Amino acid sequence: RDYVELYEKDLAKWALLRNVNTVVKPTTLLPGDYVWLDLKTGREFEVPIGAVVKLCDSGQIQVLDDEGNEHWISPQNATNIKPMHPTSIHGVEDMIRLGDLNEAGILRNLLIRYREKLIYTYTGSILVAVNPYQVLPIYTANQIRLYTNKKIGEMPPHIFAIADNCYFNMQRNNRDQCCIISGESGAGKTESTKLILQFLAAISGQHSWIEQQVLEANPILEAFGNAKTIRNDNSSRFGKYIDIHFNKRGAIEGAKIEQYLLEKSRVCRQAHDERNYHIFYCMLKGMTPDEKKKLGLSKATDYTYLTIGNCTVCDGRDDMKEYSNIRSAMKVLMFTDKENWEISKLLAAILHMGNLRYEARTYDNLDACEVVRSPNLTTAATLLEVDCKDLMNCLTSRTLITRGETVSTPLSMEQALDVRDAFVKFSSSCSFEQLCINFANENLQQFFVRHVFKLEQEEYNLENINWQHIEFTDNQDALDMIAIKPMNIISLIDEESKFPKGTDTTMLNKLNFQHKVNTNYIPPKNTHETQFGIQHFAGVVYYETRGFLEKNRDTLYGDIIQLVHSSKNKFIKQIFQADVAMGAETRKRSPTLSSQFKRSLELLMRTLSVCQPFFVRCIKPNEYKKPMLFDRELCVRQLRYSGMMETIRIRRAGYPIRYTFVEFVDRYRVLMPGVKPAYKQEDLRGTCERIAEAVLGRDDDWQMGKTKIFLKDHHDMLLEIERDKA
Ligand code: ATP
Ligand code: MG
Repeated sequence: RDYVELYEKDLAKWALLRNVNTVVKPTTLLPGDYVWLDLKTGREFEVPIGAVVKLCDSGQIQVLDDEGNEHWISPQNATNIKPMHPTSIHGVEDMIRLGDLNEAGILRNLLIRYREKLIYTYTGSILVAVNPYQVLPIYTANQIRLYTNKKIGEMPPHIFAIADNCYFNMQRNNRDQCCIISGESGAGKTESTKLILQFLAAISGQHSWIEQQVLEANPILEAFGNAKTIRNDNSSRFGKYIDIHFNKRGAIEGAKIEQYLLEKSRVCRQAHDERNYHIFYCMLKGMTPDEKKKLGLSKATDYTYLTIGNCTVCDGRDDMKEYSNIRSAMKVLMFTDKENWEISKLLAAILHMGNLRYEARTYDNLDACEVVRSPNLTTAATLLEVDCKDLMNCLTSRTLITRGETVSTPLSMEQALDVRDAFVKFSSSCSFEQLCINFANENLQQFFVRHVFKLEQEEYNLENINWQHIEFTDNQDALDMIAIKPMNIISLIDEESKFPKGTDTTMLNKLNFQHKVNTNYIPPKNTHETQFGIQHFAGVVYYETRGFLEKNRDTLYGDIIQLVHSSKNKFIKQIFQADVAMGAETRKRSPTLSSQFKRSLELLMRTLSVCQPFFVRCIKPNEYKKPMLFDRELCVRQLRYSGMMETIRIRRAGYPIRYTFVEFVDRYRVLMPGVKPAYKQEDLRGTCERIAEAVLGRDDDWQMGKTKIFLKDHHDMLLEIERDKA
């Protein structure tokens, strides 16, 4: 009640202030009033900040802003302040209720909630999640119970509510559901995903092996696919799509995890202050001395591949404990001891190979090199179960077949290093992978835009709904340029990769020629520059083109294939199976990395398009991985790029819930005694309207379309609550 009273008092005051033509005369303000203060710094991501009036003194007022800074405002500067709507003073659970619908309003709403550890906020049914960077007591079994089988809005916003609604909608509508979780690195996507899985496993309720396996797959995936980066101590270096199957009774029956484009280059190289994949450090910390001895292993700081980023430990992570978690997860997933050992052998071989040293030599005026004989070389050969001499040859020379003759040519030192790294990482690069990843992100954003803005408004028009068009930022043009329209960037890269004489330079020239006038393309500044830029929905990204084609071709040299083929180790052969099975010629013609990626992405988008989507937008509050620290400009940037403003606008004006007349009558006829089932109705539309009028009231904001009834989220909730009672 206190809250309501406070709210009403503020509302009255606000109305009073608004009467003064929104420009506040300082004299009309009293201590305790809330205002928006525009600091007018002109910075790109700066928006007005909330402030409370402290003192009013002969025309001057003193305000204290949300960051705790004091400002004196004189009457001349009064244009800098505006009254604050009461909904912004206390905050709202659903941002479509915000009175001050602007970026400042959204930001402050998230800020004041975040300070009270309320990290979740709705925009209609879209969930905004601000990373708390601390363990909150809101994910207990009791919380799961509280959120089970509830309507959105019945309980405070929560990731569990989204999971519960996915589950409930699946059963109610008998349709596949999907949940798209987006956000920057470190924003909380992986944690959100795990929470959703945890909830689904709990309410699936079988306490079965299969649920356990779904949950335990994560520690394994993270061990091999996550690493410490400067942005996130547990950064996922691959994309994933988790597909969960439920049986008719709503129990988890199986799951499939699709992974996209692991950052392989990290195995060989890490940026400063970053680590290799967790598994290496965990293994070195967690194995018994005996196991390590068998693999010839010592400590992390002894390995080149683990020390390039000059960082072998990660605050807050216990690599030893993690290792035992990984091992027990592998047991749940039914890895045998033998399989485990084979995996360890391969990981150890990678570390030994990374420590190989080369010495430059010159033969007959040819640049060549030799591997320095070392225990690392023999251990690597033993672990890979290949001949030591073969391994050495393979690393320092290349076999070329010309006119039926087999010639072995030595490799220069630089080439040789490339070959070794190619073996462990299969060759790749940040820049090219980044392009593929950003291409995937553009796709997911377009899915959001299509669902939230395009399809929505199209349908209102088709159904003759009274509707004012809402503008939005469409990323379709960028997507067209990257991968859809003829001569798109990906296709040009691909074409050049298949062209024997193609080089990174000829490719870049073609890109420039084709796209220089496109507003989403940023050509290199001059002919020496090897970077080009793309205006993505989330900002400009520059791509370094050196190595692009090689990375896209993504093939291993024949010599390496030969070597693997000669290995006596079945496991290793199996890993490279696809490559070994192909002949040299097929390998040359095998699909490029980008075409494979494009295909798997198309499949994904097709799968998603037949699902009912839910969206979770994760926000990273600061760059320091710290709790209770809210960087306003960083957050504004994320909110702006994700289209949150427009989303709130359309969700507020729109009707997210819609039923065909048949569906509506059959579901809600219980609310009106004597109404016959839909198939017995003569005037279906009329009946539908009568039920809605009776339950929701004639004047409430719902609309009758040509074939459907259009409702707000709160109508849906009301109808469902009434239906439960009936
Ligand atoms: P990337 O794109 O780099 O994989 P991400 O979006 O998956 O990033 P997460 O790994 O989920 O980010 O989150 C980073 C860190 O933030 C987590 O390791 C955890 O410490 C913290 N974090 C995220 N969400 C939560 C949460 N709901 N509760 C507590 N801590 C969280
Ligand atoms: Mg992640």
